[in-house]
Amino acid sequence: EKNLPDATTQMVCGFCGTGCNLNIHLKNGEGVCISPTTEYPVNLGMACPKGWEALSVLDSPDRAVSPLVKKSPNHWEPVDWDSALSLFTSKFKAIQEKHGDESVAFLSTGQMVTEEMAFLGALAKFGMGMVHGDGNTRQCMASAVTAYKQSFGFDAPPFTYQDLEESDVLVFVGANPCIAHPIMWERVMRNPHSPQIVVVDPRKTETAMQSTLHLQIAPKSDMPLFYGIAQLLIQKGYVDADYVREHTEDFDDFKAHVRDYPLERITTETDVSQEKIEQLVELIHTGKRVSFWWTMGVNQSYQGVRTAQAIINLALMTGNIGRPGTGPNSITGQCNAMGSRLFSNTTNLLGGHDFLNDRHRAKVADILDIPVDRIPAENSLPYHKIMEGILAGKIKGLWVICTNPAHSWINQGQARDILDRLDFLVVQDMYHTTETARHADLILPAAGWGEKEGTFINAERRIGRVKRIKRAPGQALSDFSIFKLIAQYWGCGEMFSQWSSPAEVFQLMKKLSAGQACDFSGIEDYTAIEEQGGIQWPFAASETEPPQQQRRLFEDGRYFHENGRARFVFSEPTRMPEAPSEQYPFVLLTGRGTASQWHTQTRTRNSDVLRKLYPNRIYVEINPEDAQKHSVQPNDLIFVESQRGRLKARAFITQSVQPGQLFIPMHYEETNQLTDAVFDPHSSQPSYKCCAVRIINE
Ligand code: SF4
Repeated sequence: EKNLPDATTQMVCGFCGTGCNLNIHLKNGEGVCISPTTEYPVNLGMACPKGWEALSVLDSPDRAVSPLVKKSPNHWEPVDWDSALSLFTSKFKAIQEKHGDESVAFLSTGQMVTEEMAFLGALAKFGMGMVHGDGNTRQCMASAVTAYKQSFGFDAPPFTYQDLEESDVLVFVGANPCIAHPIMWERVMRNPHSPQIVVVDPRKTETAMQSTLHLQIAPKSDMPLFYGIAQLLIQKGYVDADYVREHTEDFDDFKAHVRDYPLERITTETDVSQEKIEQLVELIHTGKRVSFWWTMGVNQSYQGVRTAQAIINLALMTGNIGRPGTGPNSITGQCNAMGSRLFSNTTNLLGGHDFLNDRHRAKVADILDIPVDRIPAENSLPYHKIMEGILAGKIKGLWVICTNPAHSWINQGQARDILDRLDFLVVQDMYHTTETARHADLILPAAGWGEKEGTFINAERRIGRVKRIKRAPGQALSDFSIFKLIAQYWGCGEMFSQWSSPAEVFQLMKKLSAGQACDFSGIEDYTAIEEQGGIQWPFAASETEPPQQQRRLFEDGRYFHENGRARFVFSEPTRMPEAPSEQYPFVLLTGRGTASQWHTQTRTRNSDVLRKLYPNRIYVEINPEDAQKHSVQPNDLIFVESQRGRLKARAFITQSVQPGQLFIPMHYEETNQLTDAVFDPHSSQPSYKCCAVRIINE
């Protein structure tokens, strides 16, 4: 009985963008176990294995418990915070004095609370004079962000999770919610309308296996597929002409564009039968509430933005937006990708503002009470250009916070070489053992989820609470406290006198959001968020209606462009940058492999339970036909090789992949040794999903 919890509090999970709420059961004020919250409108009493295990990953011998300074290769020594921050300041200042302010940059995350992201972005750019800083959301959401901005006038995913239960046709593109967003998938399973579930994916994923129609397309043929579907919808007279006329623009140009995508061309390019394509067209037409959902299979592509817009165009032309059960809906990956998109001060100026807009800079300067010339009047370099800047010797100092590029960045061999070229690399993380920390000159120990206060914004734009229910180990501090200390050591502490606590920063964020599409100035404080089960933006201060828990955007048909119309945006598809060849005959697909591991496994590998639920050795999925051709037996160790690297993986012979394709999960350290550093030209998002490889079976 003495071990039984004596109190319970609630907070949002810190892994994926679903944003489930968890009951944290406390003993003497410390979290001891978890159960999912039943009355929260997101997860309705459900959680996936990561959520159940969220506390156990905090107790790990790998936790960074004091600042560490590199003394020699592979040898770091603990120092106190004063020495660490003096070193941080002197090294970065010396680099800036010698090479200019732009020679130091930062890489941040979609995993910290929004208040910390805002503080980091403001400190780095307004306080320390940096111009360049990007987030790991570049790796997951950048294409969706750009697509929405261009099509709708603001980065605005229109949906609410209730739509998963209200659609009668759900089309999942490059998305595997069964394992990537399992609680959203549970919402689909609760859908009472016996929905048609369509999956567009080259792999027979767990979701595809449960679909009513699977279009197993050739890799990267989704964009022409959707243009071909648009053409068929037009030909058959299935367009919602009233919606198009009243709420959109550029449809006639789009109509002319898709004339070049007749059914015969589409079947050839996609490897999908005419019958299946026509079946999908009929489903879109006959469905009363059709929703389209996409994730990384679309975004992580050399043509991710235009593919996302090809999906958006289908929703617009059929009037499937702004009503229950509809929408072109991008599902975010990380727990606070949406917070990062709006407040990290990387791609946007704080609050979804624009660095290039004089009025926006003046507004932000006024709210923060800082001189306007502290705000850069230029955009940051995107992530890959920061990496190129290091390679070119222009960026000499890098501060990496809560992300792990030495594992997750594309073409890993090159990425690691780039990190080693820096004069000074600081890694701020919960764990001192990440692949990136191995390259660091200085490691700053950070508190994690559950050890600090703040808010996350989930995939349906819902702001939820995160709380401190455990003490961070050793000398680890919240990222917020670290930023505050750095401001003092740097000599710009005065500038952040308003930034005294996450709760105070939340009040600043409200002011920064006011008047923007993401306006949440009507939320009073953290208590209001908790009492209302999270609050979706927009939630403007002037609003008189009671809070709506299932809020969709565009119900009035007005978009965020000045003329209030959505735009049809499109272009010609481009060729796969590294198509299979005689030498490298396979297309390598990468992606999430399980519901029980998270990204680079930095946290989740520290749970005994989660480790047991997933193979801890890398494996490669190969079709039986190819296995036979190459004499590969189940569990054989085979080499997989691209032009950039080679790894050894256990063969998993399965019909999930088509002949000529291989699949390796992203969670393993080795995976990105193979991937090819190519990027979407509009979003700069890396194209992780296809490169040419060969297998060697020795
Ligand atoms: Fe956490 Fe996502 Fe799992 Fe929900 S689905 S418990 S938010 S990891």
